[in-house]
Amino acid sequence: KLTVEALRTALLATADAIEQQKDELTDLDREIGDGDHGINMSRGFQGVKKELEVQNSLADLGELSKLVGMTLIKTVGGASGPLYGTAFVKFATKWSGMKSVEGEDLFAGFKEATEGIKSRGKSQAGQKTMVDIWEPFTASLQADSTLEEVIDQALVDTKDLVATKGRASYFGEATKGVQDPGALSSSILLKNIVEVLH
Ligand code: ADP
Ligand code: MG
Ligand code: MG
Repeated sequence: KLTVEALRTALLATADAIEQQKDELTDLDREIGDGDHGINMSRGFQGVKKELEVQNSLADLGELSKLVGMTLIKTVGGASGPLYGTAFVKFATKWSGMKSVEGEDLFAGFKEATEGIKSRGKSQAGQKTMVDIWEPFTASLQADSTLEEVIDQALVDTKDLVATKGRASYFGEATKGVQDPGALSSSILLKNIVEVLH
């Protein structure tokens, strides 16, 4: 079950984790991108943290997700901003008016978010992007699996792929063996959400 308060807690924890792993995210993006992913994510999640600190009347998961999505779109910049933003805006459409979700409703939100990322990015699984974390994670919500393990395994599986989408695709074969920065930041966010599910 995911409640408004739990998601808010997960988002604040994500903001702190991004700060801690900011350099790691940026270093990965320096290897197979333009070296700004940690900076982009930090700007975005510090923006989210600030919004959450001033907003205390978020009635439901729809309102909370919409605020997060809009904030990420406004503040992140780079390819990842609209992609993460879209994910949260899609949560908002599925979870509109709901104070907590579980089972099918929880799955429906993640399904919509993952499809939103893919259509916005014109991407699919296997291209070494954040989709390679979001898709297996979402699928595992309907299976009897340990979500943390699914995320860890997805990260491992993504590492040896060759990037064929986004800026990393310009680095071709050299991307093999380097973790995709957006996959890592997605694993940070999704693990913090798993942490608050109960
Ligand atoms: P930019 O590439 O514009 O500098 P970031 O560095 O913030 O943006 O984000 C890069 C990450 O965004 C990549 O590691 C990848 O996971 C993700 N990404 C980039 N393009 C796409 C896409 N078309 N579909 C899905 N994810 C993408
Ligand atoms: Mg970048
Ligand atoms: Mg950039």
